[in-house]
Amino acid sequence: MSNTHRIDLPKVVIIGENVIESLGDICHEFGFKKVMIVTGYKTFEVAGKRASKILSTSGLSVDHTFADNSNMECVEEVKERMVESGAEVAIAIGGGRVIDITKLSSTRGKKPFISIPTNASHDGFASKGASIKELNRPFSIEAQSPIAVIADSQIIARSPYQFTASGCGDIMAKSVSVRDWRLGQKVKNEYYGEYAASLALMSVDLVMKFAENIRRREQSGIRTLLEALVSCGVAMSIAGSSRPCSGSEHLFSHVLDIIAPNQALHGEQCGVGTIMMANLYDMDWMLIRDKLRLIGAPTNAIELGIESKYIIEALFKAKEIRPERYTILDEINLTRSKAKTLAETCGVI
Ligand SMILES: [Zn+2]
Repeated sequence: MSNTHRIDLPKVVIIGENVIESLGDICHEFGFKKVMIVTGYKTFEVAGKRASKILSTSGLSVDHTFADNSNMECVEEVKERMVESGAEVAIAIGGGRVIDITKLSSTRGKKPFISIPTNASHDGFASKGASIKELNRPFSIEAQSPIAVIADSQIIARSPYQFTASGCGDIMAKSVSVRDWRLGQKVKNEYYGEYAASLALMSVDLVMKFAENIRRREQSGIRTLLEALVSCGVAMSIAGSSRPCSGSEHLFSHVLDIIAPNQALHGEQCGVGTIMMANLYDMDWMLIRDKLRLIGAPTNAIELGIESKYIIEALFKAKEIRPERYTILDEINLTRSKAKTLAETCGVI
């Protein structure tokens, strides 16, 4: 194995109020003349129209298309539209689905993309991996990092608060995922990068510190969360995998996505997973739970809207979903009965 690895990072990251106004300038900086906005029907009203106006006022030729599904068919459709239009860059404006679809379709169309999240529900808007649904199962696929991230904290502050709380759950997850990564190094001699790990852990510290501000929907809180989510995307790029940001708590959430009839948001599920995996690590799981509670994120099955039996089953099956990812779940034999005790101990069920 080579000792070098390639790190692709966004060239520009802008976070703050009304930063969407700089979209035209950024496109000019990169030398683009023809752009394609990829958005959702709702987000087109929230931010897409405004972005389109900003771009055309700046003298750019603008086209737009909708990503209304999260499957491969939609990836191909968007790619075709991009190729036909001759756009030099794709601009993703929306939540997780729109950004994931644009990430993959632009990669396949061999064009760069700019990421403009309209909510802060998870760390995917600055990362390389895309989550796509196939046969109704979500799976993660390697794509590309955005060349620019424009996170307008005012647009995000206007999104339903549940998304923001979910983003905090996805950040809390890093307290466990970094430990799982260290375990992978110790037991399986995996590559482990201290820098990427530290970046992910720092995001947890800052979101915990700003929990009150986030809860009060203050700009300082929203900006800290956005910076944390971008840092986690960067941590994954530095690590060359999702290892620093996705461990046993994510495996638990991935199984829920498959087995639970009513799933909660990704970050909400990961947050609850984090409470239980932190308990397995003998960490201060109550502090994690209390911070999530303070933020207003779910901390148990009822708040997730998921029946207890699916929580137990997801804990039980989590280690099978991605067997190559070594985590705390490979160290212990979590039977169904132990899984139930764990969930009960943590007040999840
Ligand atoms: Zn995540």
